[in-house]
Amino acid sequence: MALTAVKGFNDILPDESGRWQYIEETARQVFELNGFGEIRVPIMEKTELFCRSIGDATDIVEKEMYTFTDKGENSVTLRPEGTAGVMRAFIEHKLYAQDPIAKLYYMGPMFRYERPQKGRYRQFHQIGAEITGVNDPLADAQVLNMLTTFFHEIGLTEPTLQINSLGCPECRPAYRATLRSFLEERMGQLCEDCKRRFATNPLRTLDCKVPGCISATAGAPSVLEHLCSGCDDHFSSVRRYLDLSSTTYSINSRMVRGLDYYTRTTFEMVTGLLGSQSAVAAGGRYDGLISQLGGPTIPGIGFAMGLERIALLLGTKDFASQPDLFIATMGEGERDIAFCLMDGLIKSGVRVEMDYEGKSLKSQMRRADKLKARYSVVIGGNELLSGSASFKRMSDGLLTETVLTVAGIKALVGI
Ligand code: ATP
Ligand code: MG
Repeated sequence: MALTAVKGFNDILPDESGRWQYIEETARQVFELNGFGEIRVPIMEKTELFCRSIGDATDIVEKEMYTFTDKGENSVTLRPEGTAGVMRAFIEHKLYAQDPIAKLYYMGPMFRYERPQKGRYRQFHQIGAEITGVNDPLADAQVLNMLTTFFHEIGLTEPTLQINSLGCPECRPAYRATLRSFLEERMGQLCEDCKRRFATNPLRTLDCKVPGCISATAGAPSVLEHLCSGCDDHFSSVRRYLDLSSTTYSINSRMVRGLDYYTRTTFEMVTGLLGSQSAVAAGGRYDGLISQLGGPTIPGIGFAMGLERIALLLGTKDFASQPDLFIATMGEGERDIAFCLMDGLIKSGVRVEMDYEGKSLKSQMRRADKLKARYSVVIGGNELLSGSASFKRMSDGLLTETVLTVAGIKALVGI
């Protein structure tokens, strides 16, 4: 039987990788303009890191992690998200000792054992960014503006920004208790997952997609009405900064993130075009995470966006690059000349293809079409003698006589 990839793990074929590179390059540009530097951390960490950061009662830790025992009897986990590993590295290398303000971004594969469907896979890719060391709401607003700018630069107007505040360890317990008594009266209407989560993570019910839970929580108390004055002021300032920079957003007081470490500002970029996979990017503040992982008391805020979902939104627009020139040849002597020309042109930045197999002229021209070459040229005995050839612009068939030199051809194709 032929071997196939593991279920939920995808190959990104060259047809599609142009789109991925475009997303990654746009993110690098926007993030670096904002002063972020790339950090590359391992894709596998000790299991304990994720249990301690994401939280034992979250879907990710309860049922989605790829956890193994390695040959040395250590429990290791393929990272389900990026922030925990980045913060582990931040603490381990004492990055805060030089400067508690670090602006870091990362990109790469993440792993969650979920039911694969469009926009949801078991290996997926995220691009994320984090700022540590700033309590001021200005950092929240900069991160949100950076995210908004990224979507603008990439040419997507549709995902919209939703924000919320989840409060802090001072005000959230009281809100949780209020919500719990509200839910207790509606227990019968909740799904099995939410019944189970009632004790450990009742806020998740606000975010549950099951229709019964949505209607049961329609009149639920809002977290925004239960913030302490510190959190309330912080959230007002975030909104004021967003208004100052004319960033559009809406407030969604039902937004709950699936990771325990969030405090205060949380946000999502939401699209209506991907069914229930509506979040293309998500994040929030995590003021307690670094100390929880054994580091100093330093706040942080960040987000992660899903590459697969962004690629889906970009649709079928062709990002593959095409050859500038296809060189067809008539015989062996001409192939030597074509090979040397191709080599010289590639070294000076022109993308050239030629026939590899000594095929007929007709099939060479078919290949030039298939590769969508911008120009083609046929080199035969006459061209060798005269040192020049007729180059065909493939879009309209226009012929231009040009000398067979690197400089002459570069000028013709406009590179
Ligand atoms: P969802 O509610 O869709 O499960 P999430 O809250 O689990 O998302 P996060 O953990 O916040 O998502 O991850 C940030 C982003 O990563 C998501 O907005 C989404 O674009 C992407 N993402 C998360 N899980 C997957 C997955 N299994 N496959 C593809 N992309 C994913
Ligand atoms: Mg999820």
